[in-house]
Amino acid sequence: MLLGNDRSDDPNARTLAIMTGYERPLTPETMAEMRKEIEKVVLVPGLSIIWRQLDITHAQEVFDHVLVARFRGSCEVADLPPPSGFDNVLGFTHLSDGVILPFVEVDCERIRSLLRREFRGKSRPVRELLLGRALARVLAHELYHVLAGTSKHSTRGIAKAHMSPDDLVRDDLAFEDGDLAKIRLRISTNLELAAQSAVPLENRSAKQTEE
Ligand SMILES: [Zn+2]
Repeated sequence: MLLGNDRSDDPNARTLAIMTGYERPLTPETMAEMRKEIEKVVLVPGLSIIWRQLDITHAQEVFDHVLVARFRGSCEVADLPPPSGFDNVLGFTHLSDGVILPFVEVDCERIRSLLRREFRGKSRPVRELLLGRALARVLAHELYHVLAGTSKHSTRGIAKAHMSPDDLVRDDLAFEDGDLAKIRLRISTNLELAAQSAVPLENRSAKQTEE
C-alpha cells in the first residue's frame, strides 16, 4: 500500500499511525496505560496519534507517518522470568545501511524481568498499569530515534541510553525539551519519515542498535 498525505484544514495537522503487533496479547489495562503514556509524552502540536493493529487490514487509510512496533515475548505480569543480568536491550530500532527505519521492537520479556522488584507486593491491576507505563517508555525511546531521525542519545529523559527499573515505572519521565524539539521539527517538515508502505517488512539485513 502506498501512503499519501491527507491534510485537513489545519496546515499543521499531521497523523502518526503506530501499527502494533503482539506476539502475546496485552491486557486491555496494560494497553490503555501504554497508549495514554505515549500520548502524554509525544507532545507535538497538531499531531494525532492513531493506533492500529498489524494483523487487521486497514485498506483505505492514509497517514503522514507510520511506525511499526512489534512486542516480543510474554507481557504477563505474573510468573516473571528471572533477572537476566545487566545491560539488557529492552527495545531497538531497525537500521539499514545506517538509515533508521520506522520499525521498532520492544522486548516484553526483558522489561517484565527488570520490573520484578517494582511488582513486588503489588496487585495484578497495579502491575498491569506499571507494565503499560514501562512499555510506553521503551516504545517512546525508540520512537524518538525514528521521529527525530537520530541514533544519538540524551543525557536525561526518555532519550537517554539506559533506563533503570525506576525510570520505567515512576510517575513522570518525559523527553527533554531539546529532544522534543527535534521530533517536532521533523514531524512538521515531513523529513524522510513517511513510510512508503504499511506492510510490515522484515529486513533480513537489518542490524540492531539501541537500548
Ligand atoms: Zn536508544
